[in-house]
Amino acid sequence: LGERLQSTMDRIKGKGKVTESDVKLMMREVRLALLEADVNFKVVKQFVNDVKERALGSAVMQSLTPGQQVIKIVQEELTSLMGGENQKINLAQKPPTVIMMVGLQGAGKTTTAGKLALHLRKKHNKRPLLVAGDIYRPAAIDQLQTVGKQIDIPVFSMGDQVKPEEIVENALKHAKEEHLDTVIIDTAGRLHVDEALMNELKNVKELSNPDEIMLVVDSMTGQDAVNVAESFNGLLDITGVTLTKLDGDTRGGAALSIRSVTQKPIKFIGVSEKMDGLEAFHPERMASRILGMGDVLSIIEKAQDNVNEDEQKALEKKLKDSSFTLDDFLSQMDQVKTLGPLDDLLKMMPGANKIKGLDKMQFTGKEIDHVQAIIRSMTLDEREHPEKLNASRKKRIAKGSGRSLQEINRLLKQFNDMKKMMKQMTSGKRKGKNPFGGM
Ligand code: GDP
Ligand code: MG
Repeated sequence: LGERLQSTMDRIKGKGKVTESDVKLMMREVRLALLEADVNFKVVKQFVNDVKERALGSAVMQSLTPGQQVIKIVQEELTSLMGGENQKINLAQKPPTVIMMVGLQGAGKTTTAGKLALHLRKKHNKRPLLVAGDIYRPAAIDQLQTVGKQIDIPVFSMGDQVKPEEIVENALKHAKEEHLDTVIIDTAGRLHVDEALMNELKNVKELSNPDEIMLVVDSMTGQDAVNVAESFNGLLDITGVTLTKLDGDTRGGAALSIRSVTQKPIKFIGVSEKMDGLEAFHPERMASRILGMGDVLSIIEKAQDNVNEDEQKALEKKLKDSSFTLDDFLSQMDQVKTLGPLDDLLKMMPGANKIKGLDKMQFTGKEIDHVQAIIRSMTLDEREHPEKLNASRKKRIAKGSGRSLQEINRLLKQFNDMKKMMKQMTSGKRKGKNPFGGM
């Protein structure tokens, strides 16, 4: 569907002026994309109306074509709907910080409790304590203890015969005695929201006065996630959300719905079962994911800012007939520098993740300087025919550029790999597109 969205965009792209029917056409695709991504239909409706209004009301910017502009508005609106910026976890001014994990059974509370403990120790220098507050699910305590062992974080448990309220009270005392500054309470979940559970959670909340009540939601549950978020928020007034299992093939529409229904920030996403599989939530990236089109927009933006159109066309042609030389590479490097790391840029392109060997191509700013130095030490003829570079020529170039032979060989190999890759990208469906960001 992301592709359809793009083809609609392509159709409108060339037009000088965006009409109402263009916008309608675009928005129909956007609406479908959102629904397919499991965004709540009420949210979609409101959203589409907002964007339509903005798109029709906006003056057409010189640098962007109308299609790009509508997409840009969609992206911006999605981003702001999801909170705009990443929001960090709440930490107490005076220790201990208390974090209470809540959510349905199987959402990922216990796993995320461990991930958070690790995150807080690593990134915030905290000394966390995990508290086994789920006394109902068989083996829940064992599971938390296993997690604790794995990441070397202490776990407080009183078995399954003591009420969670009492466990938490004792855990807080224990943390104080042991100078553990962060208490993460794992709680029970049910298959559905039920009153007994909610009362227990309310009690735990009251006596532990959490800085963060982290609702854990399984992103695979789609539409249901919204109802869950709404009821937990209504009863407990949550402070943050972690959306788990985004490593699956869900589009992540739940993120949009949850945020707009609860007005509470999504702070983290779970991207694997492993303890390091926790990432900060970035609304902008999620907006792209929901639209299913990679980070097309940032590419458009960067390209519009930096790339001269004529040069771009000439380059595209060269890419197509494979006459791209090291000299072209050299002049592109300056552009690449302003566009950001090449591999990042390539990764943002839809479908680029399928290209083999992409992960091996890494150019950081410094490396680009080195690469430029090497190419500048070549004669024009060598730049056009790198196959002529024998050992003695390479030695000369190494001297001239102050780089090692190894680096020169690596550059030549990367250049060849890149040429191959570009050929792949410019042939077939991906016609006319090149990895430097031109459309
Ligand atoms: P709880 O019942 O809410 O405590 O959920 P658990 O922490 O026991 O997690 C339920 C299942 O989901 C376990 O098999 C976890 O390994 C898995 N899980 C949790 N978070 C993630 C995630 O981000 N990605 C993946 N792939 N699996 C996850
Ligand atoms: Mg659990």
